[in-house]
Amino acid sequence: MIDFKHVTKNYEPGITALKDVNVHIGKGEFVFVLGHSGAGKSTFLKLMLREEKATKGEVIVNGYNLNKIKERDVPYMRRTLGVVFQDFRLIPELTAYENIAFAMRVTNIDEKEIKRRVPYILNIVGLAKKRDKLPSQLSGGEQQRVALARALVHNPDIVIADEPTGNIDPALSVEIMELLKAINSLGTTVVVVTHEHELAYKFAKRIIEIRAGQIIRDIDRTVAQ
Ligand code: ADP
Repeated sequence: MIDFKHVTKNYEPGITALKDVNVHIGKGEFVFVLGHSGAGKSTFLKLMLREEKATKGEVIVNGYNLNKIKERDVPYMRRTLGVVFQDFRLIPELTAYENIAFAMRVTNIDEKEIKRRVPYILNIVGLAKKRDKLPSQLSGGEQQRVALARALVHNPDIVIADEPTGNIDPALSVEIMELLKAINSLGTTVVVVTHEHELAYKFAKRIIEIRAGQIIRDIDRTVAQ
């Protein structure tokens, strides 16, 4: 699924964002990547999405070696990942339904399939009744659920949530975690990137903690310690 093998990322000489990181995330895991600001979490995420390339070492995601992948294959690799960005990145002029449908149209999925799949996904995230609302007519938590629904359109192997509690109320963060747990229980790997220790210790099965570009802890709580 996700393999980092001796991965180092230098943005420029003297700035090492990640240093000799080795990690394997397998199918069906529910993992938190935890660390303070500046620890290297965004770099970890960008390497996984191939927005950045490793300076040293190998990154392998869903069978794609991101050091060797051809530019034209990058969109296919990214479709195996569903990303929920911290700022949601919804299109303000489009309804909840249309935001999700749009993500399918840009990858040339036919209208019949869109009409079948969008209501199904809206239902999973509990937004069937809000399908015709614009983002501005939805609460922060609801907007996040649209973003999550959109991340699910391609039936990704891995869902990645970047600081999912950053822009919502604390009570809603429990709700979104429950939703991610439900998605995980259907077999999808879930990776949550966050600086919130409390959240990680409350929900994670596994916590990978990064500090100053290195993994300082990797706790699997599904195995007796
Ligand atoms: P986090 O997401 O945990 O806050 P980042 O991965 O953004 O951490 O940053 C890790 C380190 O790399 C920090 O020291 C940061 O200043 C540096 N860094 C991140 N992006 C860049 C960049 N584009 N150019 C130079 N340095 C960067």
